[in-house]
Amino acid sequence: MSATILDGKALAQTMQAELAAEVEALVGAGGPRPGLAAVLVGENSASKLYVGNKRRACERVGIASWLHELPGRTTTEELLALVGELNRAEEVHGILVQLPLPRQIDESAIVDAVAPLKDVDGFGPTSLGLLTAGRPRFVACTPAGVLEVLRRHQIATAGKHVVIVGRSNIVGKPLALLLSQKGIDATVTVCHSRTRDVGALTRQADVVVMAIGQAEYLKADMVKPGAVVIDVGTNRTADNKWVGDVDFARVREVAGAITPVPGGIGPMTITMLLHNTLQAARKK
Ligand code: NDP
Repeated sequence: MSATILDGKALAQTMQAELAAEVEALVGAGGPRPGLAAVLVGENSASKLYVGNKRRACERVGIASWLHELPGRTTTEELLALVGELNRAEEVHGILVQLPLPRQIDESAIVDAVAPLKDVDGFGPTSLGLLTAGRPRFVACTPAGVLEVLRRHQIATAGKHVVIVGRSNIVGKPLALLLSQKGIDATVTVCHSRTRDVGALTRQADVVVMAIGQAEYLKADMVKPGAVVIDVGTNRTADNKWVGDVDFARVREVAGAITPVPGGIGPMTITMLLHNTLQAARKK
């Protein structure tokens, strides 16, 4: 039996149409047009692509967006000065500093400097602290996208065992906090590079989330029959194709439901950024 495909691209389109209507309703009621300032430092081609995709999505839903491009030799102080300006700018409701930053820049200092009410990426200490305290404001976009995929496909989380492989500050860790919130109520196990037998844990999971950045790491014999498999990973192959952290062709024969790569969590991540930017404008 082949798994149900959880089509993130189609869901993102549906949600973006909903967001466009919400944006127009806000503006129509005399509210501000939501605005996102994107900051791109250096010449990282993947970052350029991601920022371009995010800005095009803003345009589709009626969110204003501005791009600030800085040279690769930019210092921490120069970038802090720009973030300070954007923090003060009335028309900017959300600030997105595309990571990774060039090596000479203190990334934590920049993440910490974004005003908490404009932290639509949800990476800052206030956003993470509020999530930890069970009062989420801006949830990091990829974890929020994973939850939305589960919710909109009526995949129950309460009492389910979710095994997350990967513990980064932008995916694994906030996702673990999110799924173990009251009301979502999953029992969460987090694996990382020092975990002793990842397969022994993923085999026990009702839901497996892969976020390690290793092409096709999760094999069919690491998945319980009927489990839900969410693939966050994006890896470029030698022949220039994108694959996830899941051996999709084989795992789909065992899993009950599975997200593809591309067309799964990627488009949902962008959509949750738009969602967070609208929330930021509303809070204003
Ligand atoms: P990081 O490199 O920051 O973190 C990777 C995590 O995976 C670490 O916690 C690491 O463990 C763990 N890990 C690495 N190898 C193994 C292994 N063999 N077994 C178990 N755990 C392992 O990555 P990110 O979280 O930023 O991204 C993960 C993937 O998701 C990447 O492919 C990235 O491109 C993708 N991504 C996709 C997004 C989307 O929108 N679709 C958004 C964000 C990321 P340790 O902590 O011990 O080092």
